[in-house]
Amino acid sequence: MSNAAKIGFVSLGCPKALVDSERILTQLRAEGYDFTPDYREADCIIVNTCGFIDSAVDESLDAIEEALTQNGKVIVTGCLGAKSEVIRARFAGVLNISGPQDFESVMNAVHQQCPPPHDPFSSLIPDQGVKLTPKHYAYLKISEGCNQSCSFCIIPSMRGKLKSRPANETLLEADKLVKAGVKELLVIAQDTAAYGLDLKYAETHYNGKTVKTQLQDFVENLGDLGVWIRLLYLYPYPHIDKVLPLMRDNKILPYLDIPFQHASPHILKLMKRPAATEKILDRIHTWRDICPDITIRSTFIVGFPGETDKEFEELLDFLDSAQLDRVGCFAYSPVEGAKANELDGAVPEDIKQERLQYFMEKQAAISEKKLHNKIGTLQDVIIDEVNEDHAVGRSKADAPEIDGVVIIENPMGLKAGEIIKVKITDSTEHDLIASCNVLA
Ligand code: SF4
Repeated sequence: MSNAAKIGFVSLGCPKALVDSERILTQLRAEGYDFTPDYREADCIIVNTCGFIDSAVDESLDAIEEALTQNGKVIVTGCLGAKSEVIRARFAGVLNISGPQDFESVMNAVHQQCPPPHDPFSSLIPDQGVKLTPKHYAYLKISEGCNQSCSFCIIPSMRGKLKSRPANETLLEADKLVKAGVKELLVIAQDTAAYGLDLKYAETHYNGKTVKTQLQDFVENLGDLGVWIRLLYLYPYPHIDKVLPLMRDNKILPYLDIPFQHASPHILKLMKRPAATEKILDRIHTWRDICPDITIRSTFIVGFPGETDKEFEELLDFLDSAQLDRVGCFAYSPVEGAKANELDGAVPEDIKQERLQYFMEKQAAISEKKLHNKIGTLQDVIIDEVNEDHAVGRSKADAPEIDGVVIIENPMGLKAGEIIKVKITDSTEHDLIASCNVLA
């Protein structure tokens, strides 16, 4: 039986925080630590927190409290860790607090609490590291931090300015993941489209080729790995138009996740985001001309300070014109330290909720119609899960966790991670129903 120290781990927040968790877990496993889901038998517990909005802060504080109550030896890291005073004020007994990506601080705290075991076999970790996602897909983080200053967001102050990983280093990681069985890579960053700007798009060398640390060149090379490549979190810079031909040519998935946040030029200005909505609509048409199969996903905030009925109507009109495929929406909630808190015109909570509901109903109707149009088509689907009477998969239009799914009836012989062709037989507001029998 292993006598290695056991670590409990809680990972909260977005995929970027998840990748940080994976790095910490990989390092712990490399040093021979074991993991346990049972707080009571853990030698200490690491809580990787999120601090994005108030509800995420509450969830993080609850997780710390639970770990302290059940175990007592707790190390806190992640976005909320950047505000150590908030945590200290409530939980004086926490062993160590560090901000996002401060892996050294986390590891030092673990070493102090429970020194690493001396077991020569414990360093046998998988090449691709320890992953929290299913075996067949993985997040690939290409940079950290952000140079933008959206007024509702405090991520740049928590995670710092843009810091990109050189293209060859990131390609090597991607290659290891693919060799370990990953079939879909989800490329993430705080600002994916800004990749390489801080490195002046430096040229790197990989497999005898020169690869620039720049979005287009980098994803073109990723496409050579022969797995699904999905780009997430693209800020609407003009240069992202250059990746559209790669989507058209099936080098990467025809999927653009591009948060517009709003459509009223007045609100976008207050948000400190690009405000030329007309141009955005033109670009959406161009994207669809270049790549007719494209899925466009976006997120929006309703009830931002200064949003009157007029601005909300502008947003609804945009939704009508843009006919986006996938949409997420949040009611604005002030984040401590964000510039938007200084703005006049706060929208009452009940109106925010009303607008959110109206917005989502409108988009649900658009989504339902778009999915209905897919009935009778053949789609490639990656299988996430196989149950007795159905399997759950995702088409090229569905990112894990955030989009809909494809329910496949009669899943005989299917395995998670397989990519198969299915025939769409029915649809709902957000999901598709399919049959494996493409001749049916
Ligand atoms: S681009 Fe994203 S991470 Fe950067 S400031 Fe804006 S919302 Fe925050």
